Formats: sequence, C-alpha cells, structure tokens
Amino acid sequence: MKRLFLALFVLLCLLASAPLPRAAADEPAVPTYRVGYISVPGFLTKDADGHYRGSGYEYLEQLAIYAGCRFEYIDLSHTNTSMELLAGNVDLLIGSTIQPGDPRFLFSEHSIGRTPLQISLASGVNPETQSSLRIGYISDVYSRDAIDHQLARFLPPGRYALLPYADYQALDQDIENGTLQGIANDSLHPQTGTQPYGNLYLFSHYILYRPDETALKDHLDDVTNDMLTVTPFLPYLLAKRQEQKGAPLILTPDERAWLAAHSHIRAFASPNQPPYAYFENGEHKGVTQDILSRIEHDLGITFDITETSTNEELFRRLDDGEADVMCDFFFDYNWAHEHHMMLTNPYLTVTYVLVHRRNEDIPSSPVIAAPRSRNFTRQYVERYYPEKDIRYCDTDEDCLRAVSEGQADIAAVKSIIAQALIYRNGFFRLEADNTVVYTQGTSIAVSERIDPIFVRILNKEIAHLDPTAIQSAINEETRATTEQTSLVSYLYRHPIESLGILVLIFLALLVGVLLVLRIRRNHLAEISRIAYTEPVTGLHNERWLESQLPDAIDRAQSARVDGRLYLVAICVRQMAYYRSTYSRSVLAESFVHEIQRAQTAFPWFRLVALSGDRTRLYTLWELPAGLAPEQAAQQVTEGASVIPFGDVMTRIRYHVSAVQVPNGRPDIAKLVSAASTTLDLARTENQPFLLFNQQMEEEFAWASHLETLAPKALARQEFSVWYQPKYDLATHTLVGAEALVRWQSPELGLLPPSRFIEVFERNGFAVRLDYYMLGHVARFLEDRLRRGLPVVPISVNQSALHIGEGGYLRKMKETAEAYGLPAGLIDLEVTETAFVDFKTKEARESSRHIIDSLKSYGYATSMDDFCTGYSSIAMLQNLPMDSMKIDRSILLAAEHDDRALRILRSVIQLGASLDMKILCEGIETEAQEKLLKDLGCTYGQGYLYAKPMKQEEFEEFMEKHLA
Ligand code: C2E
Ligand code: CA
Ligand code: CA
Repeated sequence: MKRLFLALFVLLCLLASAPLPRAAADEPAVPTYRVGYISVPGFLTKDADGHYRGSGYEYLEQLAIYAGCRFEYIDLSHTNTSMELLAGNVDLLIGSTIQPGDPRFLFSEHSIGRTPLQISLASGVNPETQSSLRIGYISDVYSRDAIDHQLARFLPPGRYALLPYADYQALDQDIENGTLQGIANDSLHPQTGTQPYGNLYLFSHYILYRPDETALKDHLDDVTNDMLTVTPFLPYLLAKRQEQKGAPLILTPDERAWLAAHSHIRAFASPNQPPYAYFENGEHKGVTQDILSRIEHDLGITFDITETSTNEELFRRLDDGEADVMCDFFFDYNWAHEHHMMLTNPYLTVTYVLVHRRNEDIPSSPVIAAPRSRNFTRQYVERYYPEKDIRYCDTDEDCLRAVSEGQADIAAVKSIIAQALIYRNGFFRLEADNTVVYTQGTSIAVSERIDPIFVRILNKEIAHLDPTAIQSAINEETRATTEQTSLVSYLYRHPIESLGILVLIFLALLVGVLLVLRIRRNHLAEISRIAYTEPVTGLHNERWLESQLPDAIDRAQSARVDGRLYLVAICVRQMAYYRSTYSRSVLAESFVHEIQRAQTAFPWFRLVALSGDRTRLYTLWELPAGLAPEQAAQQVTEGASVIPFGDVMTRIRYHVSAVQVPNGRPDIAKLVSAASTTLDLARTENQPFLLFNQQMEEEFAWASHLETLAPKALARQEFSVWYQPKYDLATHTLVGAEALVRWQSPELGLLPPSRFIEVFERNGFAVRLDYYMLGHVARFLEDRLRRGLPVVPISVNQSALHIGEGGYLRKMKETAEAYGLPAGLIDLEVTETAFVDFKTKEARESSRHIIDSLKSYGYATSMDDFCTGYSSIAMLQNLPMDSMKIDRSILLAAEHDDRALRILRSVIQLGASLDMKILCEGIETEAQEKLLKDLGCTYGQGYLYAKPMKQEEFEEFMEKHLA
C-alpha cells in the first residue's frame, strides 16, 4: 500500500515537471497580406491617431474575418502604386483608378466600394461669369478622361482647364493662393474653403492583384461571395455609414432653375397620426412635417399643404388632381402608379407594432382592426389575415377603440404613433407590443403631371438629409406629444411610482392643511389672547373671566353649596396717586408680582383677572371652611400692604368687595357687576371690605334701571332745576340760591337727587347732568338780566368727577364766555371729597390750578359738605374758595354734643379767618339758627327759610324778597 502511494507520488511529480504544450505555438500562423492604398477620405484613410477609417477599410476588415487572414495597410500615396504592387512591395492594391480590363493586373470580381467625384469651386468663384476655371485633381487617383467627360455636363469645353496634382498639399496651396478656382475630388470630405458645384461620377474600387496571384484572388473572391450572400449591400451600407451628415446637396443649373420656377407646391399630407403626421389648427405637424420643413428650407420651396380629415378624402382629392405632391406616401411603386404618382426614395422608415389589450393573451387567430383605404392594410393586413378576421375602421384611433372595446383583438399601427394614440385617447387597457410586424418607407409622391426633375431633386435632397436630424425630429415630436399627456401617461406607465407620487401629493396637501390649521389655531389663540388679555400687565381681562367663570364655578360645586365660593373685587385706594407717581410698567409689574405672590400664598385663589381700566382685580375665592371672606380679604391685603414699586417700598391700602356665588344658575355678568358695584360702594364709603348683600342687590337693580333711563331722560328734558334760597342769618334777606336737580320721570315719578345722584356719580353720568344744570342756571340768570330783573348768585353743584374730567376747564371757560354773566353770579359747589387725593404736591397744584382757573372765568366757588370728608386745614389753605358750606350733620351733632359744637365753632372761626363766607346747610329750627348765629355763621340754607322750589316759584319768591 505504502509503495503504491510512493509510485503515484513519483508519477505525479514527473507529470508536473514535464513541459505543457503551449497553445499559441501550435496554432497555424494567420496569413497576413500587405494592402497598398492611396488615402481617400471616407473610403480608406489613416487618421491622426493611427486608426484606419472609411468604408473601404471596413469592407476589407470584414473580408479578413471571412478569409481568416489579416491585412496590413501600407500608404502608397505619392508613389507609383502599380509599380509597388508589381515589385512585390505589397500583395494587394486598393483605391486606384485603374479599372478592370487593364491586362497588367488581376481584379477582384466585385467592386469593394464606390466613391463619388465632385467638382468644388473656391468660395467666391462664380462659374457663370468666370471666363476660364482652373481645376486641379490628384492624377494618381482620378482619371483625367473621366473627369473631362463628365465636367462637360456643367461647363462648356474651353471654359475650364484640368491640372494634375501629385498630392493634396500642393493642390490645397494653389486653391488658397488663387492659382486654382476649383478641385475635382471625392465628395465624402469636401476640401475646406470650397463649395460643391457638381457631382461628376461614382468610380468603383477594386482589389488589384499581381497576375500570378490567381490562387489568392480566387480565394478572396470566393470568400467575398460568401460575405455578400449574407450582406448583399455591404459596400452600400458601409458607404452610407460615412454619410453621417448626409450627402452634400449639389444641384445642377437646370434643377435650380426648375425650383425657382416652382417655389409653391400644392400638397397633401396624412391626417390624424400624431406625432407622425397630423393637423392642428389647419397646420400640418409631426415628424414628416419637420422633415418637409427641412426640405423646404434646403430647396427654397414651400409645400402648400391642404388639410384633409381622412385618408379616403385625401386620396380621392389627390386622384382628382387637387395637389401635385403627397408628402408622406407609402413607399410602394404599385400604390404610386395606381394614383399616378412618381416616388422619391424613402426619407423615413416607419415600423408597425401590434397593439392589444393589456395582460390578455392574443388568440391564435385574432381579429385585427385595420384602417380602410390605407396601403398598409393592403400590404400587410389583407395579406396575412383572413378577411373574416379584419375589422375595418376609419382611422388608427378607431382601430384602437375597437381593440379596447373588444371588437378586435389587435391593431397594427406605426410605432411612433402607438403610445401617443394610447395616451391621448385614454386607451389604458391597451398596450403596444415591441415586436415589429411591418416596416414601411415614407416617400414623397409627385404627380406624373409634374416634371420628373422634381423627383430627382427631391432624391438629392433626401440623400442630403442629415440622418441624426431626422432621428432628433422623431424624438422631439414623440416627446412633445407624450408630454401633452404626460401626467396621464405617467400614471399609465408607472402605476407604482404614481401611487407613490399621489401619496406624496396627498401628504404634502395634508401637511399644507395642517399648517394652515396650525396657523389658524395660532391665529385664533393670538386673537383670543388679545381678546382675553389686558395688554399692559398681560393678566387676563374681564371677558376672559366671564368665559372662565361658569366652568370654575361648576368645579367648585361643594364650596358653592356650602356658601364658601366668592367672586371678589379688589382695588387700590387712591390708585390715581400711584398712577401719577409711578410709571405704568412699574405699577403693572409690581401688581402682577403681588398677584402671583398672593396666588401662591393662598391656595384658594381660583381665577384672577384685571379690569380693562386696570383699576380693579377680580378673583374667584374658594374659601376653606371657617374662613370668612372678610378675614380672607384681610389676610390678602395685609400681605400685600407694603410692596415695592421699583425700588421704593410703598404702603398700599385696598378696598375689597365680595359676592357670594349663589346656588342655581349664576348670571355671570350680574355676578361680576355686583362685585364691581360693591367695590364702588366700598370706595365711596371708604371701606376696606364690603360684602354684597340683599339690600345692595336691590340698590344695584335700581341703579341699573336708572342707568338705562338716564340718557333718554336728559334728551327729553326730564331733569329740572329747583332752587333753594340762601339767607343772611342776621337780616333774613335772600342772598342767593342753590340749584338742585329733580328728575320728573314718566316711569319712576318725581325723584329727588338722593335717589339717583349716587348712581350717576358711579357711572359718570353726573358730569353730563352738571353741564345740563349749569346751562339751565346760566340761561335763567341771563334771561332775568336781559329782562332787567333782579338776580342773586346761584350755586350749581359740581360732581367730584369733574376734577378728573378731561377738558373740564375748557368747557367751563366756554360756558362762562357764552353767557357773559357778571363775575360771581354763578357759584360752583365742590365737595371737599373731590379733592381727596390731596397728598402730592402735583395733586395740590392741579387742584389749586382748577380753582384759580374757575375763579378767573368769573365763577365763585364753595366748598360743599364741609366737615364730612377728609377736609384738612391744608386744603383750606391751598384752595382759596369763596365760601364754605358746613354740612347739616355737624349742625345736628353740635346741637347735642359739646365736642361737635366746639368743632363747629372752630370751623366757622377758621373760615372767617380765611375770609370765606360761612354758610350752614339744613337749618330747620330757630334754635339751630340761633346757635349758628352765636357761633358766628353768617349765612344759612334750610327748610326754616325755604325748601327747594321750581323755577317759577323761585322767580315769584325773588320778586317778593328782592323788592
Ligand atoms: P347738597 O349739595 O348738600 O344739597 C343740599 C341738600 O339738602 C338738598 O337736597 C336740599 O334739599 C337739602 N336741604 C336743604 N335744606 C334742608 C333742611 O332744612 N333739612 C334737610 N333735611 N335737608 C335740607 P337735595 O336737593 O335732595 O340734594 C341732595 C344732594 O344731591 C345735594 O346735596 C347735592 O349733593 C346733590 N345734588 C343736587 N343737585 C345736584 C346737581 O345738580 N348736581 C350734583 N352733582 N349734585 C346735585
Ligand atoms: Ca350743594
Ligand atoms: Ca351739602
């Protein structure tokens, strides 16, 4: 066993070390032939990169494959080619003008290609005027006789001289320096600086052999026959390949003359086949039209194309001689002869494809839809399909409809119109097969009535057409037609992508909608923020409060049932003072800070809102059991009694009002207004805390009733002026009167001011009422003065609201000027409480300014209700009023109380010492009169003398007393 392995191992080693046969070495050597050539551009030439080019070269390479040999190319330009071959320097010779029949050589059986010879003239040379043209040619390539023979077609003998050249270099030079006017050359690559003038002839190239090379010639001939059996038109195809830009268009003088005489050609063209050929707004369009336009441009002619709507109509009218040309004619001479037409070479090749229903198998003997009167139908459909299986239609579109609707299984249509037809007409059930079933050339048909020269011209032009330009016309038209239906076609062709795009579009729309909604929501939020926010502090406002209260009240249901739920209103006492002292932002910031502090300190704060004028704060309190609202208010205000305004620690006092939220459905507006009105009351009564009660409710109801009636009442003159006389206590003479308002209301009866003036003070209506009174009094006095009747000074009450009223002084001045009453005849009674904010220097100065101004306008002034408010010595000192009206309350008190008596005495003395007239109100008894007289009071007013009376009564009264 061990030995066997050893033997195998040795054998393997031996095999491995033995030299392996080399494939290449054993292959038979490929025979190589040296091919001599003369460079003919486009046929056989070597370019700058060392690569061979041209149809001749391609032909030989193809031949080499068939022959199993190799060709080695040797450039024989500038040599004697025949000598080179005969001397054996090359084995074969190509590209010579030596033609078959020359006994010195053997010639290949077939020509390997033909190149045209062309006459080109140097630019600027006019052959008609130039007396003699010197034309050069390469003598080794072209035969002088052949050129001479053909040139006679263009130029009369004696008009030109042919000059042989050995190479292109010298020839080019002479063209450039003007020695030569023309050149005879191959047409594939015209010389620069020359214009083609005429085509001479096509000369054939053969392979030349030495006479003794019969075997080689026979071998290559055999191989060539094999090759041409497969590709009979190989030389033609290869030559065509060279014509990338199309052949040069060289027209003879008679051709040019014919065109000049026939610049407009009556024509027909196919309808209804976009993008191949169709009409749009009477204009012919499509691929064929693009090519026709080139032809028109090149030849300087116009095809006047008449629109037709069907092929039947077209051919009927064509046969009737309505046109001389049919622009896209099926390339079929039989068809042409039937219609008495001549045909050009095809300028376009179209292929036909089958259209069938998508995802459906085509039956073995399908029904085919075919257009009537179409040569294609005859050439293809009727030839390959039994008559029973043909459904005739008018147009390609009708054919597709028939397939789509199941009346036919297939239709054959031009591939360039298939897709467009499907998309344009929405035949989405249909699909074009890529199998080409038929190929057809499109030619121009020219009536036999026309000179055939036109066909020859058109053929030159068709050969001249740039194949790439034709292809790009097809691409362009196809793109344009499919673009028209691009969306639909896209959906059709790319269902998955379309779905994706749809989803994307949907998403984009969704995002858009969401964005809009978001913007809207933000917008609404912003609107509601503005609507619900007090701008300076950023706190919520009353509107917000009213919107939030119902829910907040519901949430605090148990506290409400227990009576622990309160709507509270808070204001700062003497807010005007802080406002005049601190900036708005500092105030706002400080209060907001206090509110936040209170909210954290007292967890029973539920809602907080600020009134629009920022004078009051509303808050919902859900108080813990056992904590009375008054106590709660105390806790809150105590905590916030010293607060910083900026850097200044300031002591603040507050008014607080509270309204218990009733059970049952709360009227929110009423609740807020109750809190607000109670707060007003707390302010008026200068109370730190006021709880809304039943009586207030009635008063508030009354107030709101009055408020609604008041404006109308003013307009309807329901307010009237009553006069209460003022007396000299010592002499009992009439010294003046006070105008007192009365409201004769049709709804409420006669109301004294005590019933309404307070309400009007609160809602500001008192201001208007005062002007009304002032006006009446002024007119009353003016009227009496005009009538020469005696008058006494009349005092008019001025609400405290005037102090803060904008334009008060201006209006008072205007009134004074308007009536021009003697100074002091109208006395203005201002309550001392009007100047309650008499603390700061500014406030004092402004009060003083008001009084001084009123005096300067001619008004007397009285300090009303003296001893009821915060009257201070300082105020008396600062406000130089004419009179002091001592309130009835102190008189009443003084009658029984010694302290009050002493105060009354002091007040009277003080007034007297300030040179003020002292009057006491409400004197009802003689005892009171005596008391006052004893104390030094000069004047009096009261029922003891006279009650307030109507104007007429007062006038009578004056008549009696002022006699
Ligand atoms: P007032 O300015 O203190 O007016 C004096 C009030 O005392 C008047 O009440 C008058 O009728 C009343 N009176 C006069 N003599 C006696 C008396 O002997 N005994 C008693 N018990 N009362 C007497 P009236 O007219 O009801 O006016 C009440 C208040 O209404 C006035 O108090 C005044 O503050 C206000 N008022 C009246 N008319 C006007 C007005 O046109 N404008 C403004 N802003 N307030 C007015
Ligand atoms: Ca008064
Ligand atoms: Ca008074």
